[in-house]
Amino acid sequence: MRYCRKCIQPDTRPGIVFDGENICSACRAREEYERINWDARERELREIAKWARGNSKGGFDCAVGVSGGKDSTFQALYVRERLDLKVLLVNCAPDNISEVGRQNLENLVQHGFDMLSMRPNPKIERALSKYSFYKYGNFVKSLEYPLYASTFQIALKFEIPLVVQGENPAITLGITKFLESNGNALNWNNSPTVAGGNASDWFQKGMGLKDLLFYQFPDVEELKKKNIRAIYLGYYVKEWSNTKNTEFSVSRGLRGRPGHDPNKTGKTNPYFSIDVDLKVVNQMLKYLKFGFGSTTDEVCYDIREGRMTRREGTELVKKYDGKCSDYYIREWCKYIGITEEEFWKVVDKWVNKKLFERDEWGRWRPKFKVGEDFNEE
Ligand SMILES: [Zn+2]
Repeated sequence: MRYCRKCIQPDTRPGIVFDGENICSACRAREEYERINWDARERELREIAKWARGNSKGGFDCAVGVSGGKDSTFQALYVRERLDLKVLLVNCAPDNISEVGRQNLENLVQHGFDMLSMRPNPKIERALSKYSFYKYGNFVKSLEYPLYASTFQIALKFEIPLVVQGENPAITLGITKFLESNGNALNWNNSPTVAGGNASDWFQKGMGLKDLLFYQFPDVEELKKKNIRAIYLGYYVKEWSNTKNTEFSVSRGLRGRPGHDPNKTGKTNPYFSIDVDLKVVNQMLKYLKFGFGSTTDEVCYDIREGRMTRREGTELVKKYDGKCSDYYIREWCKYIGITEEEFWKVVDKWVNKKLFERDEWGRWRPKFKVGEDFNEE
Protein backbone atom coordinates (compact mmCIF):
# COMPACT_ATOMS: atom_id res chain seq x y z
CA MET A 1 0.00 0.00 0.00
CA ARG A 2 1.42 3.37 -1.03
CA TYR A 3 0.37 6.74 0.34
CA CYS A 4 0.19 9.98 -1.54
CA ARG A 5 3.20 12.12 -0.58
CA LYS A 6 1.07 15.23 -0.08
CA CYS A 7 -2.12 14.01 1.56
CA ILE A 8 -2.54 10.61 3.18
CA GLN A 9 -4.71 8.95 0.62
CA PRO A 10 -3.65 5.35 0.00
CA ASP A 11 -3.54 3.78 -3.44
CA THR A 12 -6.06 1.16 -2.33
CA ARG A 13 -8.98 3.48 -3.15
CA PRO A 14 -10.72 2.00 -6.21
CA GLY A 15 -10.07 4.15 -9.27
CA ILE A 16 -7.38 6.34 -7.68
CA VAL A 17 -4.47 7.43 -9.85
CA PHE A 18 -0.97 8.31 -8.52
CA ASP A 19 1.61 9.97 -10.75
CA GLY A 20 5.34 9.21 -11.05
CA GLU A 21 6.08 11.29 -7.97
CA ASN A 22 3.52 9.39 -5.91
CA ILE A 23 1.10 12.31 -5.74
CA CYS A 24 -2.60 11.48 -6.07
CA SER A 25 -4.81 13.07 -8.73
CA ALA A 26 -6.86 14.87 -6.08
CA CYS A 27 -3.75 16.68 -4.83
CA ARG A 28 -2.73 17.51 -8.39
CA ALA A 29 -6.21 18.90 -9.03
CA ARG A 30 -5.86 21.03 -5.91
CA GLU A 31 -2.54 22.44 -7.18
CA GLU A 32 -4.40 23.51 -10.31
CA TYR A 33 -7.03 25.24 -8.19
CA GLU A 34 -5.15 28.53 -7.78
CA ARG A 35 -4.36 28.65 -11.47
CA ILE A 36 -7.93 28.13 -12.60
CA ASN A 37 -9.61 31.11 -14.21
CA TRP A 38 -12.62 31.12 -11.90
CA ASP A 39 -14.15 34.18 -13.53
CA ALA A 40 -14.26 32.31 -16.82
CA ARG A 41 -15.85 29.30 -15.11
CA GLU A 42 -18.45 31.49 -13.49
CA ARG A 43 -19.27 33.05 -16.84
CA GLU A 44 -19.64 29.58 -18.29
CA LEU A 45 -21.92 28.63 -15.39
CA ARG A 46 -24.07 31.71 -15.96
CA GLU A 47 -24.37 30.79 -19.63
CA ILE A 48 -25.56 27.31 -18.64
CA ALA A 49 -28.08 28.84 -16.22
CA LYS A 50 -29.35 31.15 -18.95
CA TRP A 51 -29.66 28.17 -21.27
CA ALA A 52 -31.60 26.25 -18.61
CA ARG A 53 -34.06 29.12 -18.10
CA GLY A 54 -34.56 29.32 -21.85
CA ASN A 55 -35.12 25.57 -22.22
CA SER A 56 -37.36 24.99 -19.26
CA LYS A 57 -40.60 23.29 -20.36
CA GLY A 58 -42.37 22.17 -17.24
CA GLY A 59 -41.67 25.24 -15.12
CA PHE A 60 -38.55 24.04 -13.31
CA ASP A 61 -35.18 25.11 -14.68
CA CYS A 62 -33.13 22.62 -12.73
CA ALA A 63 -33.30 19.61 -10.46
CA VAL A 64 -31.03 19.25 -7.44
CA GLY A 65 -30.69 15.95 -5.60
CA VAL A 66 -30.75 16.66 -1.88
CA SER A 67 -30.28 14.87 1.41
CA GLY A 68 -30.37 18.11 3.37
CA GLY A 69 -26.68 17.86 4.29
CA LYS A 70 -23.97 20.49 3.96
CA ASP A 71 -23.38 20.07 0.23
CA SER A 72 -26.95 19.84 -0.98
CA THR A 73 -28.04 22.77 1.19
CA PHE A 74 -25.30 24.87 -0.38
CA GLN A 75 -26.16 23.63 -3.89
CA ALA A 76 -29.87 24.33 -3.64
CA LEU A 77 -29.47 27.82 -2.21
CA TYR A 78 -26.62 28.70 -4.56
CA VAL A 79 -28.46 27.84 -7.77
CA ARG A 80 -31.52 29.72 -6.62
CA GLU A 81 -29.90 32.79 -5.09
CA ARG A 82 -26.87 33.23 -7.33
CA LEU A 83 -28.03 31.74 -10.60
CA ASP A 84 -31.67 32.70 -10.37
CA LEU A 85 -32.91 29.24 -11.31
CA LYS A 86 -36.31 27.79 -10.48
CA VAL A 87 -35.33 24.66 -8.56
CA LEU A 88 -37.03 21.35 -7.94
CA LEU A 89 -35.41 19.51 -5.05
CA VAL A 90 -35.34 15.74 -5.47
CA ASN A 91 -34.93 13.70 -2.36
CA CYS A 92 -34.45 9.96 -2.31
CA ALA A 93 -35.39 9.15 1.25
CA PRO A 94 -33.32 6.38 2.78
CA ASP A 95 -34.68 3.85 5.18
CA ASN A 96 -33.24 4.48 8.65
CA ILE A 97 -32.91 8.23 8.21
CA SER A 98 -31.49 9.83 11.36
CA GLU A 99 -33.46 12.38 13.34
CA VAL A 100 -30.97 15.13 12.57
CA GLY A 101 -31.08 14.11 8.90
CA ARG A 102 -34.83 14.59 8.92
CA GLN A 103 -34.48 17.98 10.60
CA ASN A 104 -31.87 19.15 8.10
CA LEU A 105 -34.00 18.18 5.14
CA GLU A 106 -36.95 19.98 6.67
CA ASN A 107 -34.74 23.00 7.31
CA LEU A 108 -33.82 23.12 3.63
CA VAL A 109 -37.39 22.82 2.34
CA GLN A 110 -38.50 25.49 4.76
CA HIS A 111 -36.23 27.91 2.94
CA GLY A 112 -39.03 27.86 0.41
CA PHE A 113 -38.51 25.05 -2.10
CA ASP A 114 -40.68 22.59 -3.95
CA MET A 115 -39.45 19.11 -3.21
CA LEU A 116 -40.26 15.70 -4.57
CA SER A 117 -39.39 12.92 -2.20
CA MET A 118 -39.02 9.39 -3.55
CA ARG A 119 -39.00 6.44 -1.23
CA PRO A 120 -37.76 3.13 -2.59
CA ASN A 121 -39.62 0.16 -1.15
CA PRO A 122 -37.99 -0.35 2.27
CA LYS A 123 -38.43 -4.14 2.19
CA ILE A 124 -36.54 -4.33 -1.08
CA GLU A 125 -34.01 -1.79 0.14
CA ARG A 126 -33.30 -3.91 3.18
CA ALA A 127 -33.04 -7.13 1.19
CA LEU A 128 -30.64 -5.57 -1.30
CA SER A 129 -28.57 -4.00 1.43
CA LYS A 130 -28.13 -7.42 2.97
CA TYR A 131 -27.31 -8.96 -0.40
CA SER A 132 -24.83 -6.15 -1.09
CA PHE A 133 -23.15 -6.78 2.26
CA TYR A 134 -22.63 -10.47 1.51
CA LYS A 135 -21.69 -9.99 -2.12
CA TYR A 136 -19.49 -6.86 -1.97
CA GLY A 137 -18.71 -6.34 1.71
CA ASN A 138 -20.36 -2.95 1.12
CA PHE A 139 -23.99 -2.57 2.08
CA VAL A 140 -24.33 1.00 0.86
CA LYS A 141 -23.62 0.07 -2.76
CA SER A 142 -27.23 -0.84 -3.53
CA LEU A 143 -28.49 2.37 -1.91
CA GLU A 144 -26.35 4.52 -4.18
CA TYR A 145 -28.32 3.48 -7.27
CA PRO A 146 -31.68 5.08 -6.44
CA LEU A 147 -29.91 7.95 -4.71
CA TYR A 148 -28.19 9.08 -7.87
CA ALA A 149 -30.64 7.83 -10.47
CA SER A 150 -33.57 9.67 -8.87
CA THR A 151 -32.62 13.21 -9.88
CA PHE A 152 -32.04 12.15 -13.49
CA GLN A 153 -35.29 10.18 -13.61
CA ILE A 154 -37.25 13.15 -12.34
CA ALA A 155 -35.52 15.53 -14.75
CA LEU A 156 -36.56 13.22 -17.57
CA LYS A 157 -40.17 12.89 -16.41
CA PHE A 158 -40.68 16.59 -15.74
CA GLU A 159 -38.62 17.74 -18.72
CA ILE A 160 -36.23 19.70 -16.53
CA PRO A 161 -33.27 20.75 -18.68
CA LEU A 162 -30.56 20.87 -16.03
CA VAL A 163 -29.43 18.51 -13.28
CA VAL A 164 -27.08 20.05 -10.75
CA GLN A 165 -24.77 17.65 -8.93
CA GLY A 166 -22.29 18.60 -6.20
CA GLU A 167 -18.67 17.61 -6.47
CA ASN A 168 -16.94 15.67 -9.19
CA PRO A 169 -15.21 12.76 -7.42
CA ALA A 170 -12.58 12.66 -10.16
CA ILE A 171 -11.43 16.06 -8.90
CA THR A 172 -12.05 15.79 -5.16
CA LEU A 173 -11.14 12.13 -4.63
CA GLY A 174 -8.82 11.69 -7.59
CA ILE A 175 -10.62 8.70 -9.11
CA THR A 176 -9.64 9.75 -12.63
CA LYS A 177 -9.54 6.17 -13.81
CA PHE A 178 -13.33 6.22 -14.17
CA LEU A 179 -14.42 9.83 -14.48
CA GLU A 180 -13.19 12.88 -16.32
CA SER A 181 -12.15 15.95 -14.36
CA ASN A 182 -14.60 18.34 -15.94
CA GLY A 183 -17.96 19.95 -15.21
CA ASN A 184 -20.11 17.44 -17.10
CA ALA A 185 -22.05 15.21 -14.71
CA LEU A 186 -23.98 13.33 -17.36
CA ASN A 187 -21.67 10.36 -17.10
CA TRP A 188 -21.93 10.13 -13.34
CA ASN A 189 -22.96 6.50 -13.62
CA ASN A 190 -19.41 5.61 -14.70
CA SER A 191 -18.25 6.03 -11.11
CA PRO A 192 -17.08 2.77 -9.53
CA THR A 193 -19.90 2.57 -6.97
CA VAL A 194 -22.72 2.33 -9.46
CA ALA A 195 -20.70 0.98 -12.39
CA GLY A 196 -23.17 1.83 -15.13
CA GLY A 197 -26.18 2.25 -12.89
CA ASN A 198 -28.16 -0.69 -14.23
CA ALA A 199 -30.94 -1.95 -12.00
CA SER A 200 -30.24 -5.42 -13.44
CA ASP A 201 -27.17 -5.53 -11.19
CA TRP A 202 -29.65 -6.23 -8.40
CA PHE A 203 -32.07 -8.61 -10.06
CA GLN A 204 -32.75 -11.61 -7.89
CA LYS A 205 -35.18 -14.45 -7.82
CA GLY A 206 -38.64 -12.92 -7.79
CA MET A 207 -37.31 -9.40 -8.26
CA GLY A 208 -37.12 -7.74 -11.67
CA LEU A 209 -37.06 -4.31 -13.24
CA LYS A 210 -40.62 -3.51 -12.25
CA ASP A 211 -39.57 -3.81 -8.60
CA LEU A 212 -36.39 -1.81 -9.09
CA LEU A 213 -37.43 1.09 -11.29
CA PHE A 214 -35.92 3.60 -8.88
CA TYR A 215 -32.59 1.78 -9.20
CA GLN A 216 -32.31 2.33 -12.94
CA PHE A 217 -30.12 5.17 -14.14
CA PRO A 218 -31.75 6.63 -17.29
CA ASP A 219 -30.06 5.94 -20.59
CA VAL A 220 -27.55 8.75 -21.19
CA GLU A 221 -28.44 8.86 -24.89
CA GLU A 222 -32.07 9.40 -24.00
CA LEU A 223 -31.14 12.24 -21.65
CA LYS A 224 -29.11 13.83 -24.42
CA LYS A 225 -31.93 13.38 -26.91
CA LYS A 226 -34.26 15.17 -24.53
CA ASN A 227 -31.70 17.95 -24.28
CA ILE A 228 -30.99 17.36 -20.60
CA ARG A 229 -27.65 18.51 -19.27
CA ALA A 230 -25.99 17.77 -15.95
CA ILE A 231 -23.22 19.70 -14.25
CA TYR A 232 -21.02 19.47 -11.18
CA LEU A 233 -21.44 22.74 -9.32
CA GLY A 234 -18.12 22.14 -7.51
CA TYR A 235 -16.31 22.42 -10.83
CA TYR A 236 -17.63 25.91 -11.53
CA VAL A 237 -17.70 27.56 -8.14
CA LYS A 238 -14.50 28.62 -6.41
CA GLU A 239 -16.01 28.72 -2.94
CA TRP A 240 -17.07 25.06 -3.13
CA SER A 241 -15.34 23.11 -0.38
CA ASN A 242 -16.36 20.94 2.53
CA THR A 243 -15.55 23.63 5.04
CA LYS A 244 -17.15 26.48 3.18
CA ASN A 245 -20.25 24.47 2.35
CA THR A 246 -20.53 23.56 6.02
CA GLU A 247 -20.09 27.15 7.25
CA PHE A 248 -22.60 28.41 4.74
CA SER A 249 -25.16 25.70 5.49
CA VAL A 250 -24.79 26.08 9.25
CA SER A 251 -25.50 29.79 8.82
CA ARG A 252 -28.73 28.66 7.11
CA GLY A 253 -29.76 26.27 9.85
CA LEU A 254 -27.87 23.01 9.21
CA ARG A 255 -27.22 20.95 12.33
CA GLY A 256 -24.38 18.51 13.00
CA ARG A 257 -24.50 15.02 14.49
CA PRO A 258 -25.62 15.35 18.10
CA GLY A 259 -23.23 13.97 20.73
CA HIS A 260 -20.47 13.92 18.13
CA ASP A 261 -17.84 11.37 19.20
CA PRO A 262 -15.16 10.22 16.73
CA ASN A 263 -14.52 7.12 18.84
CA LYS A 264 -18.01 5.90 18.04
CA THR A 265 -18.28 6.99 14.42
CA GLY A 266 -14.75 6.99 12.99
CA LYS A 267 -15.55 10.52 11.84
CA THR A 268 -13.81 13.65 13.05
CA ASN A 269 -16.26 15.92 11.31
CA PRO A 270 -19.77 16.16 12.81
CA TYR A 271 -21.18 17.29 9.45
CA PHE A 272 -20.07 14.34 7.35
CA SER A 273 -22.75 11.90 6.22
CA ILE A 274 -25.24 12.64 8.97
CA ASP A 275 -28.47 11.49 7.36
CA VAL A 276 -28.01 7.76 8.03
CA ASP A 277 -26.10 6.77 11.15
CA LEU A 278 -25.77 3.12 10.18
CA LYS A 279 -23.46 4.07 7.31
CA VAL A 280 -20.80 4.29 10.03
CA VAL A 281 -20.70 0.48 9.92
CA ASN A 282 -19.98 0.59 6.20
CA GLN A 283 -17.05 2.95 6.75
CA MET A 284 -15.60 0.40 9.15
CA LEU A 285 -16.00 -2.25 6.45
CA LYS A 286 -14.25 0.04 3.96
CA TYR A 287 -11.43 0.48 6.45
CA LEU A 288 -10.97 -3.27 6.87
CA LYS A 289 -11.08 -3.86 3.12
CA PHE A 290 -8.87 -1.01 1.93
CA GLY A 291 -7.01 0.26 4.99
CA PHE A 292 -8.76 3.62 5.13
CA GLY A 293 -12.13 4.93 6.29
CA SER A 294 -14.03 8.14 6.78
CA THR A 295 -11.41 9.96 8.87
CA THR A 296 -8.90 9.58 6.03
CA ASP A 297 -11.43 11.04 3.57
CA GLU A 298 -12.16 13.95 5.88
CA VAL A 299 -8.59 14.91 6.74
CA CYS A 300 -7.42 14.60 3.13
CA TYR A 301 -9.79 17.41 2.18
CA ASP A 302 -8.36 19.50 5.01
CA ILE A 303 -4.73 18.75 4.16
CA ARG A 304 -5.27 19.67 0.51
CA GLU A 305 -7.02 22.86 1.37
CA GLY A 306 -4.21 23.86 3.75
CA ARG A 307 -6.20 23.68 6.96
CA MET A 308 -4.24 20.79 8.40
CA THR A 309 -0.72 19.41 8.07
CA ARG A 310 -0.08 15.87 6.86
CA ARG A 311 1.27 15.04 10.30
CA GLU A 312 -1.85 16.32 12.09
CA GLY A 313 -4.03 14.38 9.69
CA THR A 314 -1.98 11.23 10.24
CA GLU A 315 -2.50 11.47 14.00
CA LEU A 316 -6.27 11.77 13.61
CA VAL A 317 -6.38 8.82 11.22
CA LYS A 318 -4.34 6.68 13.62
CA LYS A 319 -6.73 7.53 16.41
CA TYR A 320 -10.12 7.32 14.77
CA ASP A 321 -10.14 5.74 11.32
CA GLY A 322 -12.34 2.65 11.15
CA LYS A 323 -13.85 3.21 14.60
CA CYS A 324 -17.45 2.11 14.96
CA SER A 325 -19.35 1.66 18.17
CA ASP A 326 -20.89 -1.73 18.94
CA TYR A 327 -24.22 0.04 19.14
CA TYR A 328 -24.25 0.76 15.38
CA ILE A 329 -23.19 -2.79 14.58
CA ARG A 330 -25.97 -4.22 16.74
CA GLU A 331 -28.53 -1.90 15.14
CA TRP A 332 -27.40 -2.81 11.67
CA CYS A 333 -27.55 -6.55 12.40
CA LYS A 334 -31.05 -6.07 13.74
CA TYR A 335 -31.98 -4.12 10.62
CA ILE A 336 -31.01 -6.85 8.16
CA GLY A 337 -31.92 -9.66 10.53
CA ILE A 338 -28.64 -11.42 11.20
CA THR A 339 -26.77 -12.20 14.41
CA GLU A 340 -23.59 -10.38 15.36
CA GLU A 341 -21.70 -13.67 15.06
CA GLU A 342 -22.90 -13.97 11.48
CA PHE A 343 -21.96 -10.33 10.85
CA TRP A 344 -18.38 -10.89 11.95
CA LYS A 345 -18.14 -14.12 9.99
CA VAL A 346 -18.94 -12.19 6.82
CA VAL A 347 -16.73 -9.24 7.78
CA ASP A 348 -13.78 -11.55 8.49
CA LYS A 349 -14.06 -12.83 4.96
CA TRP A 350 -13.74 -9.32 3.58
CA VAL A 351 -10.86 -8.14 5.76
CA ASN A 352 -7.70 -7.55 3.76
CA LYS A 353 -5.36 -10.00 5.51
CA LYS A 354 -2.33 -8.38 3.92
CA LEU A 355 -3.16 -5.19 5.78
CA PHE A 356 -4.66 -6.50 9.02
CA GLU A 357 -3.92 -9.17 11.58
CA ARG A 358 -5.69 -10.26 14.73
CA ASP A 359 -4.62 -8.91 18.09
CA GLU A 360 -4.65 -10.91 21.34
CA TRP A 361 -8.39 -10.20 21.71
CA GLY A 362 -9.17 -11.50 18.28
CA ARG A 363 -9.86 -8.02 16.90
CA TRP A 364 -8.42 -6.81 13.61
CA ARG A 365 -5.48 -4.43 13.92
CA PRO A 366 -3.50 -2.79 11.13
CA LYS A 367 -0.10 -4.13 10.17
CA PHE A 368 0.58 -0.93 8.26
CA LYS A 369 1.63 2.45 9.67
CA VAL A 370 -0.62 5.32 8.59
CA GLY A 371 1.11 7.56 6.07
CA GLU A 372 4.04 5.20 5.51
CA ASP A 373 4.28 2.96 2.47
CA PHE A 374 3.71 -0.64 3.36
CA ASN A 375 4.95 -3.75 1.62
CA GLU A 376 2.03 -6.16 1.69
CA GLU A 377 3.98 -9.31 0.98
ZN1 LIG B 1 -2.91 13.29 -2.33
